[in-house]
Amino acid sequence: MPHIIDGKAISAQIKEELKEKVTRLKEEGVRICLAVIQVGNDPASSVYVGNKKKACAYIGIESLAYELPEETTQEELLALIGELNGKAEVNGILVQLPLPAHIDEDAVIRAIDPKKDVDGFHPQSVGALCIGQPGFVSCTPAGIIQLLKRSGIEIAGKECVVIGRSNIVGKPMALLLLRENGTVTVTHSKTRNLKEVTRRADILIAAVGRPKMITRDYVKEGAVVIDVGIHRNENNKLCGDVDYEDVAPVCSAITPVPGGVGPMTIAMLMNNCVEAGSKR
Ligand code: NAD
Repeated sequence: MPHIIDGKAISAQIKEELKEKVTRLKEEGVRICLAVIQVGNDPASSVYVGNKKKACAYIGIESLAYELPEETTQEELLALIGELNGKAEVNGILVQLPLPAHIDEDAVIRAIDPKKDVDGFHPQSVGALCIGQPGFVSCTPAGIIQLLKRSGIEIAGKECVVIGRSNIVGKPMALLLLRENGTVTVTHSKTRNLKEVTRRADILIAAVGRPKMITRDYVKEGAVVIDVGIHRNENNKLCGDVDYEDVAPVCSAITPVPGGVGPMTIAMLMNNCVEAGSKR
């Protein structure tokens, strides 16, 4: 049977480490504060924002919640970000995506001061990752690197295949694996002979956004399989991009859904906030 990578346990461990760090920083007079902005009341976004606020409270990070109405204009949102950029006591600014269609997400992301860009979506943060300079890294891929490292899985020299090239998962994932000296291939919807490519992988990252698409014929015997996907099936149960029951018997380690990659995203957001606060 494969090793089941326990994202819940690893994220809990990271949160404990951060809690201790925040307590020490408080003793030195440093307080950490995250501003969370939500526009409109999309139910999924409200759940994510609620979870982020809860994690902040647990670790000892202050959170300022800005719940703006759906009709908020882009100018109003940019003005709020400008105000938060100027507040020394705010270390991190997070705008919950997606935004209503009348607001340009790119303009909003660009407006956040890169020093407070705890989501790691600002072009300056992405550019820094690309050329190996310090900066905030997108939380989900950063969490996957932690899952691998804390499970004792070596990345250096390994064939790593990423399925998906989105700006928030696939591309930063590929760059992070490269930074860890993996030999990285990025695949996407136009890749030919996908199975041939994915079967080369020692470490396979599925961020394709299609429920249970990755069956065992995509996976080399003994590979490590990381499932980023989150979907609800016909019975309203969570599942990933990987067909877990089919794939688990052939791999050496695998992340479940739920309880794999998901919990790591918030843990890494908290990590970025603490980093932003300690650098102030
Ligand atoms: P996306 O839709 O932006 O990107 C999907 C990528 O998959 C695209 O680059 C596309 O080229 C590629 N793709 C689509 N069909 C393909 C096919 N048939 N063959 C090969 N490649 C194909 O999605 P995303 O934002 O990167 O998210 C991917 C998945 O991860 C989704 O299920 C999302 O819900 C989940 N997700 C989870 C977390 C988490 O915290 N666990 C965070 C972000 C996203």
